[in-house]
Amino acid sequence: MEAEYYVGSRQSLKKILNELKSRGLKVLGPKKSSGSIVYGEISDIEEMPLGIGGLSSITHHSIKEILHPSNQRFLYTDSNYTSHIPENGTESFALFGIRPCDLSSLQITDLLLSEDPFYNNRRSKLTWVIVEECQEPGIFCFCSLIGTGPTAKADFDISYALIGRDCIVFRKGTEKGEKMLKILQLKEVDENSKEVLLYKQRAEAAAVSMKKRFREGLSGLPEALDASLGDVSFWKKISDRCIGCSNCNMVCPTCTCSEFLDEAMMDGSAERQRFWVGCLSPVYGEVAGTHFRKEQYMRYRHFVLHKFLFPFIKQVPSGCVGCGRCIAFCPMGLDLRNTLQEVLIKYAKK
Ligand code: SF4
Ligand code: SF4
Repeated sequence: MEAEYYVGSRQSLKKILNELKSRGLKVLGPKKSSGSIVYGEISDIEEMPLGIGGLSSITHHSIKEILHPSNQRFLYTDSNYTSHIPENGTESFALFGIRPCDLSSLQITDLLLSEDPFYNNRRSKLTWVIVEECQEPGIFCFCSLIGTGPTAKADFDISYALIGRDCIVFRKGTEKGEKMLKILQLKEVDENSKEVLLYKQRAEAAAVSMKKRFREGLSGLPEALDASLGDVSFWKKISDRCIGCSNCNMVCPTCTCSEFLDEAMMDGSAERQRFWVGCLSPVYGEVAGTHFRKEQYMRYRHFVLHKFLFPFIKQVPSGCVGCGRCIAFCPMGLDLRNTLQEVLIKYAKK
């Protein structure tokens, strides 16, 4: 029978990284940078936040920064008024060490940006996905509540989890991932081995700890949200600290809204840039002298509905992957988990 699990060390991880690089791939993933964790090119596994849980496991960046960059030159015309579409990254690349929540965000951005040629071009260059599974959740994480973690579910080649200082359990996701694990001669183990049992036990404990405050999970949430829509005082109260800074939109891996800026130069050339915008910002709803979401509570409510109620949600488990970034980076301490809890308490059918 083919093995699903393998056991190795940090050295094995290094070998996978080197193998990917030797195949000419640019390897991108979370890396430590001046006290933060951002996404960037990984040249050594020592740069990565391996096995780090708690607050430090949350990266400022997500995969969104790679596939749908925050600022992008979209189109330009030269001084002869000829239009050009700029180069949009031609290198094939691998994602290495991304967490299961970010992996799940791909399913959502694939859907939301399916008509975007820039996104699709970058997405087609993504040829390998190596996931680090979490054994210790961050304090703001709730992936197990959504069903996106803490173990990787699908669409990855290899996953790994650190179960000891220098002991790693690897799991094959695809045939090519399995081939790589075999080429590197990692030790095959069965699912009753002590390493796999410990890995599963820790993953289960992490999942349970994230669900604690929601005894009945999120069942009935769409209906409860639907029922809450007209309760203006409820939404005003929930969002009363929100200042519309849009930090939550910027860090959210599944917020994909953009705006364009056209700039004309004196020599006749011009360029169009695309940059992220957030629906929580007061300027977002300004259209031709009016505003379709005038008050802050409307914007906050829209954000929550977009993640958990809108029609596209029917095609994915949820528009939110439970990464906790919007909670971690909200300057006013708004916690999406509290909002969902309050909606369920007041509006879920008993
Ligand atoms: S980060 Fe917090 S304060 Fe800023 S827009 Fe989002 S919810 Fe409001
Ligand atoms: S809404 Fe918050 S928790 Fe959900 S995916 Fe976006 S940033 Fe993560």
